[in-house]
Amino acid sequence: MIPLVDLQANYRSLKKEIDEAIQQVITDSAFIRGSRIATFESAFADLSGADHCVSVANGTDALYISLRMLGIGPGDEVITTCSSWISTSESISQTGATPVFADIEKNYPTIDPDHVEALITQNTVAILPVHLHGQPARMDRLSEIAERHGLAIIEDCAQAHLATFAGRPVGTWGQAGTFSFYPGKNLGAFGDAGAIITNSQEFAEKTACFARHGASPSSKHDHVMEGINSRMDGLQAAVLNVKLPHLRAWTENRREVARHYRSGLVDSSSITCPKSRENGHHVYHVFEILTKYRDHLLETLPKKGISVARHYPKLLPRLQAYAHHPQHRETFPNADKRNLEALSLPIYPELTFEQTAVISDAIITCISSSQASN
Ligand SMILES: *Cc1c(COP(=O)(O)O)cnc(C)c1O
Repeated sequence: MIPLVDLQANYRSLKKEIDEAIQQVITDSAFIRGSRIATFESAFADLSGADHCVSVANGTDALYISLRMLGIGPGDEVITTCSSWISTSESISQTGATPVFADIEKNYPTIDPDHVEALITQNTVAILPVHLHGQPARMDRLSEIAERHGLAIIEDCAQAHLATFAGRPVGTWGQAGTFSFYPGKNLGAFGDAGAIITNSQEFAEKTACFARHGASPSSKHDHVMEGINSRMDGLQAAVLNVKLPHLRAWTENRREVARHYRSGLVDSSSITCPKSRENGHHVYHVFEILTKYRDHLLETLPKKGISVARHYPKLLPRLQAYAHHPQHRETFPNADKRNLEALSLPIYPELTFEQTAVISDAIITCISSSQASN
């Protein structure tokens, strides 16, 4: 079976170094805080093109902490995309603010700036774009809108490590960028972990303080506010420090896999491969094709040993969790249309070209046999 993501293959490629790094954390009993955390924060900030990085327990906390420390709370509205993982909107609600859902673009899975602008009210305080699948959102237009209306921008980069838009790294366009190192993400820990990047030293200090129980930076025995406990642990930092130097090469491999899929699928007029923006550097956390044979492929490819998935079958406002949200029954024309045809194929740095060829051929065969039987 070709999995969607192969964590085993990734571990095998660095087994010795990772095992040693983990053993050293245990030997040192460096489970919480310590030098590995500081090393990771500094290296991740550098690689992401930001001045500061604050490590936290997971990507959802990274969002919640950033929103809270921007002063967002009850009565505020934050405009985000209708198509993402629930963390995106959940973290807005956790602050007491209200998520307002915008449609995605016609040709891309990312938030539609025109719809964002139409949704702005006097209560809107921020825009929360998601660089979904590793595809950067239209940050030029979103920044221009945010500036004109005096709104903050927090970028959800959980799926977009090292992606750029117009040459500028994701996560550095607005006040903060948030990352997840959930094991299956482009940079994955061996458990939960996350980070916030920012170019503001003041914001970095504030978020770090809140994430560590509001501990006073100057006095061990004082707390300047009540915060939360959201720390990256030493074992995760040790694993991430081993993996981080490989992230650029892994990202190039993902882009290479995407190129191979494109050439393998180019002859089928029934398949649209993900469009890559001219000024956007897509990092392919997900390789999502569009085809009217989606349901047929979803059923037949697993029988041929190929894992496939949908990211995400239900739009956020349609989830049961939002049964009482004013947009629960609203239509989102672009996202609804895309959701009828979207299918995610296996993609990970270790996926071989032989495997992409097997997958592409299986897709084309499935579609032709379906066409023949109709
Ligand atoms: C994975 C993910 C998150 C949350 O990250 P966790 O580390 O699992 O909390 C947030 N947003 C998006 C878009 C994600 O894919």
